[in-house]
Amino acid sequence: MEYTSIRKNFEKHGFSTQLFRTKEEARDYLVEILHNQTIGFGGSVTLLEMGLYEALQQNNAVVWHNKVPSRDVRRMAGCANIYITSANAVTEAGQIVNIDGTGNRVAMTSFGPQTCYYVVGRNKITPNLDEAVFRCRNVAAPQNARRINAKTPCAINGDKCYDCNSPGRICRITTVIDRAPMGMNCEIIFVDEALGF
Ligand code: SF4
Repeated sequence: MEYTSIRKNFEKHGFSTQLFRTKEEARDYLVEILHNQTIGFGGSVTLLEMGLYEALQQNNAVVWHNKVPSRDVRRMAGCANIYITSANAVTEAGQIVNIDGTGNRVAMTSFGPQTCYYVVGRNKITPNLDEAVFRCRNVAAPQNARRINAKTPCAINGDKCYDCNSPGRICRITTVIDRAPMGMNCEIIFVDEALGF
């Protein structure tokens, strides 16, 4: 993966960047810099695989609906000054693409926290915006739908998006973040291994 140019592109778009070889190194970095904070987490298998909740909970108050699933917990996470999530896809040109069902993650990455950290495994990096949206719909969403036992054709067949109209459809809001939102510090933490969906 050619991280030098990808990082440069994100930095031109107002993001700071870090690069780590492993998820453990990325986790240790966040543990090192975050103390006595209220931290909201977005729904993310990446964060789960990193053991980040348990690691940060030692010195911070971490709010994550994965631990206590409810709309209220999502709202509480929305009040945190620090927000940590992953992305369904990013582009080599420096854009972030996410698809949500509830909308808490796309809201928080657009407006709210002072600082937003994205942890991005190499499997999330795509050449361009079309491929990023394709990845969100045909790779990330079917696996996420299957993970939560959604009654959707992608979860049942596990192969691709059917652009369904199921009540359980998890693809309801798509965001493309072209530049770091005004007034928000955004950092992309690249990890040179496959992480999450
Ligand atoms: S639109 Fe429906 S079929 Fe397509 S990925 Fe989303 S939930 Fe699955």
